[in-house]
Amino acid sequence: MRTPFIAANWKMNLDRAAIADFCRALRAFAGDPARPLARLGVFPPSVYLAQVVEALAGSSVAVGAQTCHPARDGAFTGEVSARMLRDVGASHVLAGHSERRQLFGETDSGARARLDAALAAGLDVIACLGETLAERRAGRTLEVVDRQLDALVQGLPAETLAARVTLAYEPVWAIGTGVTATPAEAQAVHAHLRARLARLAGEPVARRVLVQYGGSVKPDNVSELLACPDVDGALVGGASLHFKSFEALARLGRAAASGSTR
Ligand code: PEP
Repeated sequence: MRTPFIAANWKMNLDRAAIADFCRALRAFAGDPARPLARLGVFPPSVYLAQVVEALAGSSVAVGAQTCHPARDGAFTGEVSARMLRDVGASHVLAGHSERRQLFGETDSGARARLDAALAAGLDVIACLGETLAERRAGRTLEVVDRQLDALVQGLPAETLAARVTLAYEPVWAIGTGVTATPAEAQAVHAHLRARLARLAGEPVARRVLVQYGGSVKPDNVSELLACPDVDGALVGGASLHFKSFEALARLGRAAASGSTR
């Protein structure tokens, strides 16, 4: 059984007061035992991590950073290491988000170095991958995600991969555009990724790894995406910025979990 994991990537949005309000509401929502939930996570800007960790302490909500530097420490002005994220109480970090790849020049090997540093520091990882519109139009989607997947996870110990790494398939053309992959498009890539995971790490591991979908997920499209057998949650940008919308996603994630045999 794979419990859906709904994660909020706030990117460079919100401020201290808005985050305080969001966390107060989320804590009340997630802490109600009469309301069992999908797994939830929030990924604030790193300057607000300690605030969010404190506000959600003792709740079941995971708190993570949006990237980390691969080095342990040193002369890397402006950067934050995985060890520092762990030190302020984060439990997760994103690796390989397409905005990091496109805007900050992060490569496949750079994403892997960040993932390795995160795991070594005790953080779990959401490892992101996905093709651009040009790559999809050229019929290269599966080739691109294969290359990215291999770079991200090849050689990881099986238990580490199964228990501590979540994949997020995020077609770049769907991120922040309002255009979502259809359930059939998402399912095709997710099933392909799971089959490749089985070849890389064995069938039992592939069955356990969560594969989120990301790209313009909203309350009105999340249910049909989560109904796909290989879609195990969502990584959500824009629709995670307002508590009411994130709460709706969390409720629908829960409904998907209880209605499924996964
Ligand atoms: C994201 O940035 O991971 C994302 C999926 O953004 P959005 O939901 O806004 O498309």
